[in-house]
Amino acid sequence: MSRVAITGGAGFLGSHLCERLLADGAEVICVDNFVTGRPENVEHLLTNRRFRLIDRDVTEFLHVPGPLDAVLHFASPASPVDYYRLPIETLMVGSAGTRNALGLAQAKGARFLLASTSEAYGDPKVHPQPESYWGNVNPVGPRSMYDEAKRFAEALTMAYRKARGVDTGIVRIFNTYGPRMRADDGRAIPTFISQALRGEGITVAGDGSQTRSCCYVDDLVEGILRLLWSDLPGPVNIGNPHELSILDTAVLVRDLCGSRAPITFIPRPVDDPTVRQPDITIARGKLGWEPKVAVGDGLARTIEWLERELVGAAHSRAA
Ligand code: NAD
Ligand code: UDP
Repeated sequence: MSRVAITGGAGFLGSHLCERLLADGAEVICVDNFVTGRPENVEHLLTNRRFRLIDRDVTEFLHVPGPLDAVLHFASPASPVDYYRLPIETLMVGSAGTRNALGLAQAKGARFLLASTSEAYGDPKVHPQPESYWGNVNPVGPRSMYDEAKRFAEALTMAYRKARGVDTGIVRIFNTYGPRMRADDGRAIPTFISQALRGEGITVAGDGSQTRSCCYVDDLVEGILRLLWSDLPGPVNIGNPHELSILDTAVLVRDLCGSRAPITFIPRPVDDPTVRQPDITIARGKLGWEPKVAVGDGLARTIEWLERELVGAAHSRAA
């Protein structure tokens, strides 16, 4: 049986990883300070004797008792709205937090996996983005706290690999969606679903011609675990290459919600990437991985979940 620590385990992706690792028979130690995650995301796991939740800021000393086979470093605000609100916390969890998580992996002789991001490519000039592309990032722009924290975290991970012999991997995660995204986290898909379900204007930034390629969370988790249990150093892109404009995404969400909400055009954020699509040749070839869930199916599952959340929130407000 493997024993795994995951930072940010009470967040959107982290909680799905905890669930899947437990289902695979692992013992899971989740470390989170709930800055953007929620206790409800892992509440249902607390009765499992192989699950332990530690409430801690990973930028402080990170200690986990007992042996570990793997450390997954997923702690970090991830939505632009969250990291604009938490710029210094984002830089610190990408720097000091990554150092602590790497130190833990080194002390335990565990494999380390860094959750990096497609934002490492910035506003890309190469399309689709292969791992060999170095990116186009504004180091002092409004997204720099996130992009540069992740680029530093990648560099630190490579340094621990080369200088300290830690078995490391880096996953560059592209936009992912699914149940447990907060309705108010500001990312396009949960925002559009909440707006469509409430019949409010669906806020499309700019003219909506910018693109994203969105991956359903179950597919992403499968790709991440294949990389975790491989010996690849990465970086490896994990994401769904199915690219859609943001306007088409908004219209698709609205149709799937059976909503008549209007589209409301709002200003486009500064440095918002214009295109984004993963080149997943490495994931396909070396991990035998590719996404399986069609966007319509993944969105339908996400809509069903957010609808229940919004009804639950309305009931607790009325009570
Ligand atoms: P999330 O905000 O839902 O989860 C992040 C978790 O990290 C939260 O539970 C938060 O409380 C925790 N956290 C943050 N700072 C912490 C700290 N100092 N100490 C302890 N815990 C801390 O975000 P997510 O979408 O689940 O993203 C998880 C990881 O995946 C992040 O590292 C993110 O950068 C990366 N990622 C996500 C996406 C995506 O589309 N979801 C895309 C690219 C990269
Ligand atoms: N976006 C939008 N309306 C919203 C939220 C986001 O049009 O209410 C746009 C945003 O400007 C970007 C795209 O949707 O072009 C994806 O944004 P998200 O925050 O989901 O992810 P990221 O920018 O990190 O890819």
